[in-house]
Amino acid sequence: MSSVDMETIVSLCKRRGFIFQSSEIYGGAGGCWDYGPLGVELKRNVKEAWWKAMVHDRDDVVGIDASILMNPQVWVASRHVQQFSDPLVDCKACKNRFRADHVQGNRCPDCGGELTEPRMFNLMFKTFMGPVENDAAVVYLRPETAQGIFVNFQNVMSTSRRKLPLGIAQVGKSFRNEITTGNFIFRSREFEQMEMEYFVKPGTDDHWFQHWLEQRFNWYVKLGIKKDNLRLRPHEKEELAHYAKGCYDVEYLFPMGWSELEGIANRGSYDLEQHSKFSGKDLSVFEEETKERFVPYVIEPSAGVDRSVLAFLLDSYHEETVEKEKRVVLRLHPTLAPIKVAVLPLSRNEKLVPLATEVHASIRGCFMTQYDDSQSIGRRYRRQDEVGTPYCVTIDFQSLEDKQVTIRDRDSLHQIRIPIDVLRATLTAKLAGEAFDVLPPGGSLVSGGKS
Ligand code: ATP
Repeated sequence: MSSVDMETIVSLCKRRGFIFQSSEIYGGAGGCWDYGPLGVELKRNVKEAWWKAMVHDRDDVVGIDASILMNPQVWVASRHVQQFSDPLVDCKACKNRFRADHVQGNRCPDCGGELTEPRMFNLMFKTFMGPVENDAAVVYLRPETAQGIFVNFQNVMSTSRRKLPLGIAQVGKSFRNEITTGNFIFRSREFEQMEMEYFVKPGTDDHWFQHWLEQRFNWYVKLGIKKDNLRLRPHEKEELAHYAKGCYDVEYLFPMGWSELEGIANRGSYDLEQHSKFSGKDLSVFEEETKERFVPYVIEPSAGVDRSVLAFLLDSYHEETVEKEKRVVLRLHPTLAPIKVAVLPLSRNEKLVPLATEVHASIRGCFMTQYDDSQSIGRRYRRQDEVGTPYCVTIDFQSLEDKQVTIRDRDSLHQIRIPIDVLRATLTAKLAGEAFDVLPPGGSLVSGGKS
């Protein structure tokens, strides 16, 4: 398990500007969260890493960005209107509500009062389209991004002139009126998903299902999640939707136990068949080589952005003692770290400022940087450690003489001293994975204590 409890991460997130409660000054909005200056960078980095792995690095996947409001028939065809419900029970004494499958027995977990019989509660948020608020104007905030992909399948196939197998990827907001939210950003009412529908010829689906199970598991590992904290759990027969041929969850060992990060399913041809039936449009494809016509099967890896952010934060959190002082460090993968490089003049001395500003300007356009000249250098290092900044660049009085700066490595606490004119190239190489102790021309290792 990650070595940290949820309260510690929630408090770090608030203190350092990663994540705040939504509408906090009004007492909050249940199950909604706002990402602050560092949180938004981390979240963007997670989404970009996913997009790169799923779309840019592959020849067989393209992206789309569909609207959140859709024709309500979409949700009839997908059976969300009929079936996207959880069983709800009310406490007759304190009136609190619970998901029936989250409580044991028929007593309220809060006050011990008697619970009502379960009734089904649809999780879709409803609103009205246009000025008239009647039944005919009801539309839904999408509860998943996947349907925007299915209804655009023909558009994408015909305009991108692609053949199967073809994946269509999308990242965006989804909304679910969850009965009980909780565990910080793990279960909220407004969240983001990263979903991909991979359309294949029936008969090749088992192969591609295996392919995506591996790819998706490895994505988390490559970005730093410890393998011991990650597992692929096959769904039991009774958990499987009737049409699904197979489904696995990628689970992370969160502080509350193993819980779902992502679901990966072989959904057969169910979704396209349903949309074909309800829209009256033919959603089959014709394969030139074999002269066969068929409705593709689909493999769906469906991940949550917010749950990934939470797992990356928990897994990277470390506390250690350095020179008798507690050091908190987020060992985030450099790809995900909100700030890549901090530029720290040793002090605010007027002789140092021009050079420090010049150094900052020389790298600012290349990476997300932060210039910080307040408080002692030791405290500034600790601040950067706590938000996961991989490298700190320090400008001292000797820099004025030798035109060199010191780079400090977050994880090993080693320091190297290098000429300013190779700083940008050196940082680029280190952020791309070069070992820290590999020196550029003119560079040297700094010996001495850790800080
Ligand atoms: P759960 O069983 O935890 O409610 P689910 O099986 O309903 O999740 P899916 O419909 O498979 O979830 O959605 C795909 C992904 O979207 C999930 O793996 C999760 O990462 C994310 N997700 C779903 N619901 C929420 C939520 N309420 N808050 C945050 N992320 C969510």
